[in-house]
Amino acid sequence: MTNVTFKQRSRTDWLVVHCAATSPDAQVRASDIRRWHLAKGWSDIGYHYVIGRDGVVEPGRPEAAVGAHVRGFNQVSLGICLIGGVDAKGRPENNFTTAQFASLHALLGELKARYPKARIQGHRDFSPDRNGDGRITPDEFIKACPCFDVGHWLAAYPLAD
Ligand SMILES: [Zn+2]
Repeated sequence: MTNVTFKQRSRTDWLVVHCAATSPDAQVRASDIRRWHLAKGWSDIGYHYVIGRDGVVEPGRPEAAVGAHVRGFNQVSLGICLIGGVDAKGRPENNFTTAQFASLHALLGELKARYPKARIQGHRDFSPDRNGDGRITPDEFIKACPCFDVGHWLAAYPLAD
């Protein structure tokens, strides 16, 4: 762990779901992403949690610290990264494992209990609403991350109150 002083978050308005944009057979861990992000000159891994292909949840940047994962919202959000999300040719694909979805669901439930006001979205849902219809539609996505519809998934599998 690096010895940097992180800026502390004052609020948690959003829980943001990301993917690593890695192929399904890549067994990436938080330590790999930390290495990639340090190589970019960042102070640490950008995400607060990483969920491996086997469903193992690893901590990333300290929860109280400002992360680096969603432009314009890092001060008020936590970032969770699922490993996977693209096919062998690098195209966006919902290829997450049952174990990953189970772990994501449990983690979001735990975080939501601690940050009851936080709303949950995928990274792509922070794209600008260019036509102003109040919805972020696929033609407006500036990126595919996390390569599945988080709102749709949560509607099918609601978090317990
Ligand atoms: Zn993302």
